[in-house]
Amino acid sequence: MCGPTVDGVPHLGHGRFSLVFDVLRRYLIFTGLDVTYVSNITDIEDKIIARAKSLGVPISEFTATNEDRWWDVMDALGVLRPDETPHATAYVEQMVALVGELMDRGVAYETGDGVYLSVKDVPGYGLLAHQPLESLRSGARVEADEEKRSPLDFVLWKKAKEGEPFWDSPWGDGRPGWHTECVVMSLDLLGDGFDLHGGAIDLIFPHHENERAQAVAVGREFTRHWVHNGWVTVDGEKMSKSVGNFTSLSDLLAKSDGRAYRLLVLRSHYRSPIEVTPETIADAEAGLARLDEMSRRFGIGDLLAEGPVLDPTGRGGATGEVVEPGEEADAEAEVDAESVARFRAHMDDDLDTPGALAVVFDLVRQANSAADADDATAAARSAGTAALLGAALGLPFRSGTSAEIDPDTAERVRRRDDARAARRWDEADTLRGELEASGWVVEDGPEGTRIRRQ
Ligand SMILES: [Zn+2]
Repeated sequence: MCGPTVDGVPHLGHGRFSLVFDVLRRYLIFTGLDVTYVSNITDIEDKIIARAKSLGVPISEFTATNEDRWWDVMDALGVLRPDETPHATAYVEQMVALVGELMDRGVAYETGDGVYLSVKDVPGYGLLAHQPLESLRSGARVEADEEKRSPLDFVLWKKAKEGEPFWDSPWGDGRPGWHTECVVMSLDLLGDGFDLHGGAIDLIFPHHENERAQAVAVGREFTRHWVHNGWVTVDGEKMSKSVGNFTSLSDLLAKSDGRAYRLLVLRSHYRSPIEVTPETIADAEAGLARLDEMSRRFGIGDLLAEGPVLDPTGRGGATGEVVEPGEEADAEAEVDAESVARFRAHMDDDLDTPGALAVVFDLVRQANSAADADDATAAARSAGTAALLGAALGLPFRSGTSAEIDPDTAERVRRRDDARAARRWDEADTLRGELEASGWVVEDGPEGTRIRRQ
């Protein structure tokens, strides 16, 4: 994946992109595949240089701070850390080698300010943009740069200006162009013809087109599949810094559970735009509350790990062959295999997360109705399957019994259950009063006292 340029705080668009690919990665693992996930860090770039300079801090310090912020926010969103996070500055030597090869093959040329790729010399340029070269050229912004042979030609190596950081190269001191980074790092870490490359929809052209062009120009096979996710809109407009409707992810996470944004993202197909407003966030929070409430009722959420989950019905494997369920799966509570199959059918259909999420909410309803009808076995099966599928989407349910509840409160809950079991109603009422006074809602469930924050 094209990872972040660490030049500032991550915004909602970064969050959506990261969540979409986290869900895809988790789902591939759920189906039984081994996944190697690489997300690069762009730690040298024009904006980085300008901002670090205006703040008067060294570039390495500026990028390290922003990278820390990025991971803090991703952790809060429950996004799994990539297997590899190559930094552009650690790959400059290999980028110089690629530019050299493009020069040797006669598809790149040097000008006064850098080295450029001649896009007309690359077969199939315009493939990702779904436009022929001619129409791309007529739509391109005409730049002042007289030396560029075509406005579509893009920079591979930027010659350093006074006061800029630089690496040496056959074309003088300078730094690599952004489009060169991902090609070099992905081919190095994943090999030729790797399975999947992605990013937000605005990366299709020119960024991904240009990445592909460089690989093709040196005769290497780039990614086999492309995945691009849609915009985040705020009040119907694409969110961007220039429009000024930019919202930072940490602002959102300060007000709302990170799982709520994940739920909001899952409610739309990844290619559609999503609208982020206080209402859509509140809606997602209400959905989340239903999941957590079910988890409290059945006491299951905290049993599930927050890492990747494997499909326990044993239908793993890329080819869809049926794998015998392992002993571990047998030891688990019974799973509603039919719901798991429906969930997988939705996810296999171009990652239809709204459909997959509907399966989860159906299971929640079924669990509650079964429990109301005193069918404990059916209730446990539906509730457990809902939690399993939620976890497969990176959406663990929380019953609030571990981290949130302090030992004093837990002790009161236990004493109240004992008092009720022994029919000491006055004592049970006193303990209820104490719990309520310290901010808990107290309910009586089949398995005893249930509490949640008021
Ligand atoms: Zn990229």
